[in-house]
Amino acid sequence: MPKVTFLNQRGGFQETLKARVDAYFAEHQVKPTGNTALHIKTAVLLPSALALYIVLLAVTMPAWLAIVLSGLLGLALALIGFNVMHDACHGSYSTKPWLNELMGLTANCLGGNAFMWKMKHNVVHHTFTNVDGMDDDIQLQPLLRQSNNQKRYWIHRLQHIYGFLLYSGTSILMVTAADYRKYFTRRIQSTPIAHMSTKEHVIFWTSKVLYMFFYCALPIMVLGWGPWLVGFFVMHACMGMAFAIVFQVAHVVEDTHFEVARTDKKIEQEWAAHQVLTTANFAMRNKVISWLTGGLNFQIEHHLFPRISHVHYPKLSPIVQEVCREHGIPYTHYRTMGGAIASHYRFLRSLGRKD
Ligand SMILES: [Zn+2]
Repeated sequence: MPKVTFLNQRGGFQETLKARVDAYFAEHQVKPTGNTALHIKTAVLLPSALALYIVLLAVTMPAWLAIVLSGLLGLALALIGFNVMHDACHGSYSTKPWLNELMGLTANCLGGNAFMWKMKHNVVHHTFTNVDGMDDDIQLQPLLRQSNNQKRYWIHRLQHIYGFLLYSGTSILMVTAADYRKYFTRRIQSTPIAHMSTKEHVIFWTSKVLYMFFYCALPIMVLGWGPWLVGFFVMHACMGMAFAIVFQVAHVVEDTHFEVARTDKKIEQEWAAHQVLTTANFAMRNKVISWLTGGLNFQIEHHLFPRISHVHYPKLSPIVQEVCREHGIPYTHYRTMGGAIASHYRFLRSLGRKD
């Protein structure tokens, strides 16, 4: 495993940033974890997904309506992922560790696994953001070339077209292959995963079996093979697309930086500066997008302070922007989500055409 180190220094960008953000929370006397707004979101999203699931199984309806509702179920699951699971797995949902643990299990309800997500996302992606060879989020090779350090194949000339189609398959890949691969190889890219306790093994297998029962066996028994297959694929296509787009446009765009680590690598930046340089925000003034994406449109703030709940990011953004200005670090943001998606599209196209 290559060893990646950062050039952290005393009194630098990272320390200043932390001091200002700590001062904000002290001054306003608020906890950095989730608040009532987040609990209301949870109370809206979890029952919505459950209601859609029950209606799809219990109510006879025309095929087109079942397809629409399956798509909505996929989107509802993605929103649970962004808003509840993501915060909980970072330990920022609540001050109570047991509540974070419980809400983190929504990852398992989506077909994934909280333990594997924490390894893949909290440890690997958040530490080695956009470092090719380490960051699992930019490793869709050979199908997709997501950084200029990766080898280019002829098929990449079309990746800006089929890439989005590929994204719709990512969540089905997570459910059927990705977690099992991590489980059996005990690695995520070049990073070994932490020791799994007996409890984690039991949770892993129990939730995979429950997933197979509730998402496959039960619907097949109630609806039959054909309707289940269509609904299952539509649900996953919507969920995978939503997930991949929100995470990809935050890192894989024209103005973000990439590193490569085939062997030991010293990144000539502080860790926090690296996070800002490899990340982009979008639609920061759009409250609807902020609500839906679980504050992941403030991805810079999230990468700097993953243990602070997303409900605080809009307030932290001006502080982060100010410190970035003082240290001459570019703060990349797109005015709209469409602008960020367009930049991602152009970036994929140019990576497919030239080295
Ligand atoms: Zn995160």
